[in-house]
Order: sequence, then structure tokens, then C-alpha cells
Amino acid sequence: MQTTQCPICSSDIIIDEESSEKDLVNCLNCGAELEIVTLQPLQLNPLQQESGEEDDNN
Ligand SMILES: [Zn+2]
Repeated sequence: MQTTQCPICSSDIIIDEESSEKDLVNCLNCGAELEIVTLQPLQLNPLQQESGEEDDNN
């Protein structure tokens, strides 16, 4: 088991050992859905819900 920080609220998020890339985890503090982008290093990508913000794609 490892922990990382929520990219939104910076609270601790526990990543299960059985989790793999592309899995989704939920932040227990702010409720955000986060996709595991890579496990080494552990990187989370917040899924956008209803707000229509786009950063990367054009
Ligand atoms: Zn959070």
C-alpha cells in the first residue's frame, strides 16, 4: 500500500497494492475521482466532472 496526495485538496490518498494504471480512486476528503496515470512514480490525474475546463488538448 502506498499513499499520495490529492492533486486537488492535498489530503492523503491510499493507493491499494492491487491498483494498476488507469484505475480510478476517490479522494475521501473532497470526493474527486482520480485516475492513476502511472504507478512509478505515482501520478494521479483528476477526472473532470461537470466543469468544462480543458487544459491539455486543443
Ligand atoms: Zn481531494
